[in-house]
Amino acid sequence: MASNKDILLSELEQVKQKAPHIEGVTLEACLPEIVRVHIYVDDMRQMTAVMQFLETYPTEPIVVELKSKTLTEKLLDGVVKICDAEARKYIGQKQIILMINFLKQFLIDNPLCIVNDEVGKVKKELLSDEDRCKLMQSTSQIVLKIKEEEYYMSYKISVPPDYPAKQVQIEMSENNFPDILKTNFVGQAVEIARQCVQPPLKKKPKDPPFEPKPSLYPVCEHLIQQCVKRYAKENCPLCNDRILPRNPEELGRLDKKKRIERVYCGHLFHYFCLYKFMKTPPFAAGKFCPSCGKQIFHEKFKVSAELAEARWAHKQARQRELAEVVDFLE
Ligand SMILES: [Zn+2]
Ligand SMILES: [Zn+2]
Repeated sequence: MASNKDILLSELEQVKQKAPHIEGVTLEACLPEIVRVHIYVDDMRQMTAVMQFLETYPTEPIVVELKSKTLTEKLLDGVVKICDAEARKYIGQKQIILMINFLKQFLIDNPLCIVNDEVGKVKKELLSDEDRCKLMQSTSQIVLKIKEEEYYMSYKISVPPDYPAKQVQIEMSENNFPDILKTNFVGQAVEIARQCVQPPLKKKPKDPPFEPKPSLYPVCEHLIQQCVKRYAKENCPLCNDRILPRNPEELGRLDKKKRIERVYCGHLFHYFCLYKFMKTPPFAAGKFCPSCGKQIFHEKFKVSAELAEARWAHKQARQRELAEVVDFLE
């Protein structure tokens, strides 16, 4: 009967013939002590697998160690565990080629492996128990469903193969937020993603050379914390009442005074509260948001201080006249 060593040697001969024909696989060492292969799917999905054999191999599973310049150690640790479970299915068989193919297929089937650490951070730091995060490996997309009180918003975030050099793409799906907010949520997220990968137009001389940054986490942080979680229960800075009604079904029948206005700084106001605030002096220095102190720019109130002053004075005069008339009639 052939010894385990003989079995291994004949398997290594077979590996030398077969491995070079597997696309993306480079056989770097093929010795009884160690077999080392580099597996390449694309620039982000690549790894080196180091395989070793116990004396009792192949009646014991092959021992696999993984290294990668692009994939995190945490992910690789997880993959090693899967490898071990997989190798146990092949006990008694030639395991090397099976393992190489298994690892290559893992990289092909799991394009989101390149954002493994970011997804972990999103789940840990940004999501609450009611939120959902689903990985769709077949389309390289992450589906988020974020809830706050009675409001919810779903997003599909696509991770391109050349991530992080290219940014994630954001698509909004089901939600019950008012139109004025939801398009803004996505528009800003797209801009945040763009800024992660494109250098600023005006470069400061002391800035270090620009390098693209991963955009998934910043985009999720914005959509989850700065949008859904925040606006679902935001109060008007002027009257301190809720902006969105507790019951989203009431959104369609909001009183004109309670209509939602969004200003430049991102704070929301009731239409009537903002209207009163903008039309009441002082005007000279401009109007500033009571919450954050930023100047309020708003299409509907785009008038100069002088004009606002004149209109206000005119209105006051009209009211005085009316009051005088009322006095006279009494
Ligand atoms: Zn208000
Ligand atoms: Zn503000």
